Amino acid sequence: MTVGGAPSGLARRLTEAVTVPGIRRHQRALQRIADRSHGNRAAGLPGYRRSVRYMATRLLQAGYRVSYPRVRIETWAEARPTTLAPAGPAGTDLVNGRDFSLMAYSGGGEMTERVTPVDRADDSSGCEPDDFDGFPAGDIALVDGASCPYLIQADNAEAAGAGAVVVAAPRTAGGPAPLFPGTLGSDAEVTIPVVSASEAAGASLGRLAEEGAGLRVSAGVVRGMRPARSVVAERPGASDKVVMAGAHLDSVGGGPGINDNGSGAATILEMALRLARLDPDTRNGVRFAFWAAEEEGLLGSTAYIRGLRAAERDDIALYLNFDMLGSPNFVRFVYAIAAPGPATPYELGTAAVEARFARYLGQRDLATEPIPLEGGSDHAAFSAAGIPVGGLFSGAEGIKSRSEAEDFGGSAGEPYDSCYHLACDTIVNNSNLGLGQLADAATHAVGVYADQPDPPS
Ligand SMILES: [Zn+2]
Repeated sequence: MTVGGAPSGLARRLTEAVTVPGIRRHQRALQRIADRSHGNRAAGLPGYRRSVRYMATRLLQAGYRVSYPRVRIETWAEARPTTLAPAGPAGTDLVNGRDFSLMAYSGGGEMTERVTPVDRADDSSGCEPDDFDGFPAGDIALVDGASCPYLIQADNAEAAGAGAVVVAAPRTAGGPAPLFPGTLGSDAEVTIPVVSASEAAGASLGRLAEEGAGLRVSAGVVRGMRPARSVVAERPGASDKVVMAGAHLDSVGGGPGINDNGSGAATILEMALRLARLDPDTRNGVRFAFWAAEEEGLLGSTAYIRGLRAAERDDIALYLNFDMLGSPNFVRFVYAIAAPGPATPYELGTAAVEARFARYLGQRDLATEPIPLEGGSDHAAFSAAGIPVGGLFSGAEGIKSRSEAEDFGGSAGEPYDSCYHLACDTIVNNSNLGLGQLADAATHAVGVYADQPDPPS
């Protein structure tokens, strides 16, 4: 029995059972899947289907009822690794994944053409159509990033007849800006190759342009509508109060996604398997979801909510989202309502979940930082349906501040996850310390809410 907010026996036993080695085992399996699936587990592609099979097999063995809600998605993937090679002896080699990377939803093509810088003196390089006045048709446009969406630069370049576009990381006051992952968005209709580049690679391409030397670009992509399935698992027995925990299972096309979001998916899988083994008689239903196509625009979770009848939606007492728990330079972010509004059941429930996470970690002398609930992950569809939500997050491409480094350790001035959405988001892109703390908090919450009379509170 739970008294005065003390952790229920189930929460304690489940938290003891879910360990970092258990979670890492599933992450290693996801890494192996990516290794034999062109380096990614993106929705609609073989690595994703294999990830679904891995999760489903284990959940079925553990006695879960499993369903596979389907979405159709516009799939994009590199058909082969993109290459950029300066023609002639003057150029230095550029390495895919270190110096440049094909942007998601880019077009493909092969060419050897001159590089023409576009309005790089200005801080809105390539953002206006007239930046391309007099642009030599067929040339490769070199622009700087950050002042407008990459899609605008790419559309302007293609309209001006460019053969390809390189978006260089903008010059920074600190050290040289590293390679960044770029996406044009799944609605992009760009047909030419669009590549992001580190500041140093941008500078070397600038020199190539001055020399008038050519650049060879080779990029191949595959696109098309494909199905992808989420995995939703529930313990047997009916319940009109269901506690849900979810994590997206897909990666971006450019990497294996072992932190984003192998960490969240592996954590809730381990939680589900351990819960099945403890086999407690929980007061509420417990349901785990492994979402398809989060990276394509939260498609799996959105379709799931839309597909429920009103009564089925009403049965969901709360939804907990775990999207990135193992970032190497982590912060313990807790989802929080941005501005206090009217005290609706949604607001009260969501605030209660936030408080529970902060209290649990605080009791272990672990600081937390609220992060405003926005539409950035799979909780969004639940929020929109008025279902209380909560979640934990170890940080993505954002830069750790000095005060965060004091509170959480790690390196100020560096990204929480410098491999976010890149090919280096592998099994070594992880902090066991952060993963263990956040997984404990996640497991604690599921254990408590599974047994609470009127969750969430
Ligand atoms: Zn994610």
